[in-house]
Amino acid sequence: MTDPIQHPSLHVHVDETVTPKPASRRNRPVSIYDLSLEQLQDRLAVLEAPAFRARQIFDWTYDKKVTSYAAMANVPAGLRASLDESLPFATMKPVREVVSDNGNTYKLLYETFDGQFVETVLMLYRDRATVCVSCQVGCAVGCAFCATGIGGLMRNLTAGEMVQQTVDAARRATELGRTLTNLVMMGMGEPLQNYVDTMRFIGIIHDPRGLNFGARRITISTSGVVPRIDALAAEPYQVNLAVSLHAPTDNLRSQLAPINKRYPIAELMAACDRYIAATGRRISFEYALMNGVNSSDQIARDLGQLLRGRLCHVNVIPFNPVEMLEFERPDPAGIERFAEVLRSTGIPTTVRYSRGVEIAAACGQLRAQHERLEPETISM
Ligand code: SAH
Ligand code: SF4
Repeated sequence: MTDPIQHPSLHVHVDETVTPKPASRRNRPVSIYDLSLEQLQDRLAVLEAPAFRARQIFDWTYDKKVTSYAAMANVPAGLRASLDESLPFATMKPVREVVSDNGNTYKLLYETFDGQFVETVLMLYRDRATVCVSCQVGCAVGCAFCATGIGGLMRNLTAGEMVQQTVDAARRATELGRTLTNLVMMGMGEPLQNYVDTMRFIGIIHDPRGLNFGARRITISTSGVVPRIDALAAEPYQVNLAVSLHAPTDNLRSQLAPINKRYPIAELMAACDRYIAATGRRISFEYALMNGVNSSDQIARDLGQLLRGRLCHVNVIPFNPVEMLEFERPDPAGIERFAEVLRSTGIPTTVRYSRGVEIAAACGQLRAQHERLEPETISM
């Protein structure tokens, strides 16, 4: 087991009194990124601006990806000033960017208007560029191996806060000579416990008049909120679904992902079957692999048995070390062996190393690290 004391950031002074309380839902500001084109038109009507201005502003926001109203050259100065007063352009401030994997992983830490910290990761691969978006500050599910869940849920992010993460990542990708192609909701939080804003977010980035992000390039990852899997199957968007499984038996899964006590494996699998039947789409099962916990040959065979006959594949994610959590990643041979045993049962299996381990890019880790650091160490 890892000795948690070896992590230097544990020795940094913590002053818990400085962590501000999250703003209540009513007090959260709406930014340009929260609005559909129609909602923007309504806002502009109140300011007595013609409807075509909404298309211009959308174009500046999502096509040119400017970062302020001031840059919208063909929008009259008076309207820009009114918008600045009534509709903040963005509500989150980037406070720190950390780069790793030879410049292929960019992790961005934001401070929200109410003093919370949120992280987004941009991952560059040979054939694609993927953004990993956060949907909550913290998470109520509290999986045993996850940094995000450690402090519980602070608050849901708004659709606009998720849109901002995506547009910023798309702009960053362009600056790096790349195009953002994929989006995974595998950052901080449980998207199906922030369902309404997650769907609004997808609606906004999907709009062909705006960012035009194809639903098939979006993956929603869930710990298994059964009723919302059914709701998702009925949505018009053809997004991909990833289900974080981590164990083939209720006893083990309940220890790793406590949501299993509420929605045990049989119910989860039944929901997955309904989802596959309704959408015809393949499900990815995510499996955080922890040495000696869920990594034995027998467990791999049980997992194969559980998933047999389903339209699915498994992504094995070798455990990403988290400060204060005493799980271990198996060695490379152990990881390959687990994947091989699972493959031998007929289940398509991929090993996916999370990017940016050295910059704490597993979900929730940069934020956790950041909140233990003194404010003057923040760069940007
Ligand atoms: N709440 C959602 C999405 C965010 S977590 C969910 O649980 O699916 C995204 C993925 O990262 C999940 O599959 C989760 O199990 C995995 N994960 C979280 N912490 C991890 C860690 N320390 N090592 C490896 N995978 C981890
Ligand atoms: Fe929440 Fe997902 Fe982390 Fe579990 S793994 S605590 S559901 S963010």
